[in-house]
Amino acid sequence: MNSKHIETQAIRTQIERSQFLEHSSPLYLTSSYVFEDAEDMRASFADEKQRNIYSRYSNPNTSEFVEKICFMEGAERGYAFASGMSAVFSTFAALLNADDHIVSCRSIFGSTQTLFNNILPKWNISNSYFKIDELDTIESLIQPNTKVIYAESPTNPAVDILDVQRLGDIAKKHGLIFIIDNCFATPYLQQPIKFGADLVIHSATKLIDGQGRVLGGVTVGSSELIQKIYLFSRNTGPALSPFNAWILSKSLETLPVRVDRHCDNALKVATFLESHDNVNFVKYPFLKSHPQYELAKKQMSQGGTIVAFEIKGGIEAGRKFLNAIQLLSLSANLGDTRSIVTHPASTTHAKIPEDIRLQTGITAGLIRVSVGLEHPEDIINDLKQALS
Ligand SMILES: *Cc1c(COP(=O)(O)O)cnc(C)c1O
Repeated sequence: MNSKHIETQAIRTQIERSQFLEHSSPLYLTSSYVFEDAEDMRASFADEKQRNIYSRYSNPNTSEFVEKICFMEGAERGYAFASGMSAVFSTFAALLNADDHIVSCRSIFGSTQTLFNNILPKWNISNSYFKIDELDTIESLIQPNTKVIYAESPTNPAVDILDVQRLGDIAKKHGLIFIIDNCFATPYLQQPIKFGADLVIHSATKLIDGQGRVLGGVTVGSSELIQKIYLFSRNTGPALSPFNAWILSKSLETLPVRVDRHCDNALKVATFLESHDNVNFVKYPFLKSHPQYELAKKQMSQGGTIVAFEIKGGIEAGRKFLNAIQLLSLSANLGDTRSIVTHPASTTHAKIPEDIRLQTGITAGLIRVSVGLEHPEDIINDLKQALS
């Protein structure tokens, strides 16, 4: 297709029509595919032909979903997974060997930290963390066995911004694979491959689905790296289900319009919070007061859907605030049509020691709002009454 626009590709990238000439892509619930004859079967298994063999390897619905993400991220190839975490785990398991080392930002998704701290060490794969304001120290963390630099931006839940270009330059200089979890920004707001990322991972469960229905994940990047991830996954089975791929591909058709509105609402919520007496500070990438505002403007097209703020009064004030919320949901998800509030210090991050929590920007009174698609006045009114 000639169009270079994400909106058009997200709608018009479609698998071949069947003999029924359907307008919208049908759901292909099939675990396997048939061969014309012995020669067709031989050539297919010898990888001389590109075709569907078995849905653990590929399926028309997962292929359509992956093709859209590849277009949006500017990637050559990808593979779709049953969840964001299966994308993260399979990517590392496919690319790393025993005794390798990872350099990662400390502010990463909780289960990814558990993977680095407790699971990969079973194969003697170790890690070193840098804080978001310690990019100067990264080169001193690199060892002869380091293979990967890993980060997320914006970070969860403190909404800090990392300089993706700078990380990409360091990775390139040292011949390391640079991997970004781009879940918070979506490919619509930020394309890390432009800044030197070799691989981009998404939890499609969040804004890509956007309606809190299905789990999914995807890794995209260079053909060479994806081939290794593909061979690992084809033999170990983390594949995305065709049904979820069908949902997620439909969701991508509306991702740009949904994310535009999410970002408009989030900026309104952030601006309101900044003016409130019971709030110490607000973190939203496109607020001028954000410490990395200029950087956010450089690498993102809008500020995203997550707003963090610190309520006055610490842990107890945070718990009281959650109890006073009426419209918004108390839930662990994010990137949903429904606005969601969490208080990390008393819930999702309560088990983490306080000093480590503070290193990732989680103060006692920090509240995370995933701003949804309700009318912004209704979202703001609920926050206002709960704050007072
Ligand atoms: C949710 C999330 C994941 C994990 O995705 P699942 O689909 O829940 O497995 C990974 N990274 C980030 C940044 C996330 O928000």
